[in-house]
Amino acid sequence: LQDGVNRLGDMIAGAKVIVPFTGAGISTETGIPDFRSPGGLWTRNRPIHFDEFVASQDARDEAWRRRFAMQETFAAARPGRGHHALASLYRAGKIPAVITQNIDNLHQDSGFAADHVIELHGNTTYARCIGCGQRYELDWVHRRFQTGGAAPDCPECAEPVKTATVSFGQAMPEAEMRRATELAQHCDLFLAIGSSLVVWPAAGFPLMAKQAGAQLAIINREPTDQDDVADLVIRFDIGEVLGPFVRN
Ligand code: NAD
Repeated sequence: LQDGVNRLGDMIAGAKVIVPFTGAGISTETGIPDFRSPGGLWTRNRPIHFDEFVASQDARDEAWRRRFAMQETFAAARPGRGHHALASLYRAGKIPAVITQNIDNLHQDSGFAADHVIELHGNTTYARCIGCGQRYELDWVHRRFQTGGAAPDCPECAEPVKTATVSFGQAMPEAEMRRATELAQHCDLFLAIGSSLVVWPAAGFPLMAKQAGAQLAIINREPTDQDDVADLVIRFDIGEVLGPFVRN
């Protein structure tokens, strides 16, 4: 571990522009389970595909029941050491923005300006109408669900209201994909942190950065498909690895 942290420290010191790319693993120490680890969300529930959500009231009811079952966990989660370390490097001017697959809002909570968090898979702390895009707060959805007994539709346009996340089968957000591409292609150090790197197209960014000439470091407890192209792989707990980089 110490050797890896030292090498990472050298890479960070030598880099002018660092772009982090984060996955569920950076948030597990805050109490939010990841997807694919033992005990992860998918070992319990099959994901609901976007087409199912659109087509079926039952699927929408189930999706919202699952979301409300997670509400205490999301509401109680505070940024962990990994989030704080990245926020420290952001404040120091080394990180222009973070690209994340996470939907938990914890990078914003750790001090990143909202505009500097590129959310590839959206955000689960609020909802949107899938027709007109109108934003709704979760409290509103919860109240409507309880009084109506079913997941609500948008009062403006009658289309379903969904967490502001990107489901399987749903289009990736264009502006975010564009900005993430720019960032990956214009950094000298790219850090892939806490992602199994199996969900595409998000998993393409580490390779893209590497091909554009950046150094690539992967920090993840388990092996990933891209370990063999990385300049540094640290297979250890993220809090332990990034803790030494937290500055107040
Ligand atoms: P994933 O579950 O596929 O992979 C997480 C990886 O992190 C695993 O390989 C695991 O070994 C590693 N990991 C977990 N805890 C760790 C720790 N403390 N230290 C080091 N490594 C650790 O997650 P992913 O790659 O982000 O999958 C992508 C999908 O999961 C995305 O669509 C994302 O939206 C969604 N997701 C997000 C959250 C969140 O917002 N916190 C939680 C679950 C899933």
